Amino acid sequence: MSVSATLTVVLATLSSVITAYVAHLISLPHFHLLGGIPVGSVLIGTAAATGVAMAVRLTSNYDVAGFRMFAQLGGVTAYMGAMLLDYVAGEMRGHRAVAVPDALTVLNYVRVLVEQGAASITAQLPESIKFPPGVAVWLGVVRLFIEVLGTVVATGWAISYLTGVPFCWRNRRFYELKDVVESSNVGAVREWEMAINQRRPIEARALLARVRTGKVAPYERSWVRIAIHQCPICLAARVRIEKRRRAAFGRVRTSPADELQFDAVKGSALLAT
Ligand SMILES: [Zn+2]
Repeated sequence: MSVSATLTVVLATLSSVITAYVAHLISLPHFHLLGGIPVGSVLIGTAAATGVAMAVRLTSNYDVAGFRMFAQLGGVTAYMGAMLLDYVAGEMRGHRAVAVPDALTVLNYVRVLVEQGAASITAQLPESIKFPPGVAVWLGVVRLFIEVLGTVVATGWAISYLTGVPFCWRNRRFYELKDVVESSNVGAVREWEMAINQRRPIEARALLARVRTGKVAPYERSWVRIAIHQCPICLAARVRIEKRRRAAFGRVRTSPADELQFDAVKGSALLAT
């Protein structure tokens, strides 16, 4: 496993475990839907994602799909872990009999999650409203779904925020990572930058294709990386160009070379593929 993969696994596991434990201590999983927002699970997802965000930063990487998936997995695991700790603690307080193995069968555990969800929703309603058991179970399933979704969305936001992804205020969303290209064709990168600055979109596109073909070979000492983040709606974008070079012990040093901001018009003209 590479250094960055190892670091990611270690930090993500740490932040998930710590988050699950702290969330259990302060009863975070019980902050269910406040005004339609699953506050508890959103906070859990945010906290659990910090490990992966740290790994992204420490290895000077970007929020590529692998990191995002890993963070989301960590967030959901932390949420499930906190709920499990709550359940086990509750059981042990209730009747000393050790009910732990019972909770560990997946089916039982999901049943508990659903029942807790149903109970928390009915608890917020006036007492005159009583649901038949079938409806209550359904409500529990819906709540579980919303909370898991909340955790996943929160990890996504946390990763974007903590790794410095730009935010589009007009469309209220983070930019998406459109491309990370490592290229040994430094000359083509320079020409590409020039074509962009002089607003020659057709040449810029052709040059970017040339940049892409400059695969970095293991013997190469230095090369260039381009990272393109773009708003999926208005197509405004940020382009980072970085110098990378091999250092001792197989490490790669990254240093910023240039950063370009594109408004919606320029972004859609120059970065359309
Ligand atoms: Zn936008």
